[in-house]
Amino acid sequence: MSKMVINGERVAAQDGRTLDVLSPVDGEVFETLPRGQAADVDLAVRAARDALGGEWGRLSALERGRLLLRLGEKVLAHHEELSRIESRDTGKPISTARADITVLARYFEFYGGAADKVHGQTIPFQQNYSVQLVREPLGVTAHIIPWNYPAQMFGRSVAPALAMGNAAVVKPAEDACLSILRVAELALEVGFPPGALNIVTGLGEEAGAALSRHPGINFITFTGSNEVGVLIQQAAAVNAVKCVLELGGKSAHIVFDDARAELAIPAIVKGIVHNTGQTCTAGSRLLVQKGIYPRFMEALAQEFSKVRAGTPDMDLTCGPVVNRAQFERVNRYIAKGLADGMKVVAEGRIADGVPSGGYFVKPTLFSAASHDSDLFTQEIFGPVLVSVPFEDEAEAIRLANATDYGLLGAVWTENGGRQQRVARGIQCGQVYINGFGAGGGVELPFGGVKKSGHGREKGFIALEEMSTTKTIIQYYGA
Ligand code: ADP
Repeated sequence: MSKMVINGERVAAQDGRTLDVLSPVDGEVFETLPRGQAADVDLAVRAARDALGGEWGRLSALERGRLLLRLGEKVLAHHEELSRIESRDTGKPISTARADITVLARYFEFYGGAADKVHGQTIPFQQNYSVQLVREPLGVTAHIIPWNYPAQMFGRSVAPALAMGNAAVVKPAEDACLSILRVAELALEVGFPPGALNIVTGLGEEAGAALSRHPGINFITFTGSNEVGVLIQQAAAVNAVKCVLELGGKSAHIVFDDARAELAIPAIVKGIVHNTGQTCTAGSRLLVQKGIYPRFMEALAQEFSKVRAGTPDMDLTCGPVVNRAQFERVNRYIAKGLADGMKVVAEGRIADGVPSGGYFVKPTLFSAASHDSDLFTQEIFGPVLVSVPFEDEAEAIRLANATDYGLLGAVWTENGGRQQRVARGIQCGQVYINGFGAGGGVELPFGGVKKSGHGREKGFIALEEMSTTKTIIQYYGA
């Protein structure tokens, strides 16, 4: 059985209860997890608070940075082991899991290097006053993490928090959290003091809810569904703590008639099938200018039909989706598209020989969705791409903004003025011009607008989100 990490110890839930972990590849139980409850969360929050008042809180920024850098090295030294754990747990093709573990190390490298480069300010004020603006940690930070990129999300959330001197309590997703537990053990091995980083596993409505409501936390970062995002904000409101929320997305590619199709097509396919479409930043809507729509869709269909789904070891484009609920959800949307009369332009294939109990779905490319259809406006979280033609720039921007979400966007055109106008016209937190990536690199500020959430992660901006300022005003005499 896996163990949680609380106050530097590997522990079971206090009441001894466990949860089964099912493999997405065949639906069988392959591991058990502690089913943490409010009492375990309480222990973890107290350990974090004690760490702030103890050894962890006394470390300099340089020393915290060194620990993070060491953890980055340790992750790289265990790269293959962690990749195997991640792909087993989530069903990701092994190459995808390897890439994710590389990014995990990169978070520790980036924020380890940044820890001692966060400077305060001095502010000109009245005569004979000295005013300093100093950055301080928030305190105990709570991190509620989803199952789609467990290792990456853990790095993204926890590395800047630790760099700024907070003590973290993490509630990973019950569907996939084994890589996180292993990294927390590695953190102890490289010398993180007890309580600086605590992991409580369990169900969202039990451990997650208890953590978000705990009066001892000072901040919450949450990535997950909109429904739970609302609960997190309500819990944060009661304790008056700040939260950063990264919720769903329905990001659009906008392809103009002068776009370089040879660049756009592989990026568009990858943008929806990578991680089997289980990415909040997936490019899940495709807007193509009318004049090139038939030709572009034909070329895209050719590329899309090459997509294959298989087991992690087959290492194809897609794996299974993570669990039965997700499997049913994606298939429900595909059936809905067909029932609504939408045309399937291309399909990928599920490889021969995958286990029959696995959660494999068929990658599907639909054409000509109506603008108010569920498939065009709702997040599917699977390898399903919906396309519509548009007339001109104004219509493209209007359609791109015609969802409740606002996470990413992409514009494909060679016209420089149009690149800027459209990039600025899309309501979202990150826009690509002639390219696409799931949320960009570690260095690039990322987050949503509208119902995709608020607050920013990644880049230096995350260090600001995960800290606060104090203004020190000193009168030094005439
Ligand atoms: P999904 O629907 O994609 O599984 P969720 O939003 O349900 O996404 O889950 C994201 C994370 O939020 C997981 O770690 C999950 O355990 C946690 N979670 C789910 N429900 C709650 C809740 N009521 N309070 C706090 N955390 C929750």
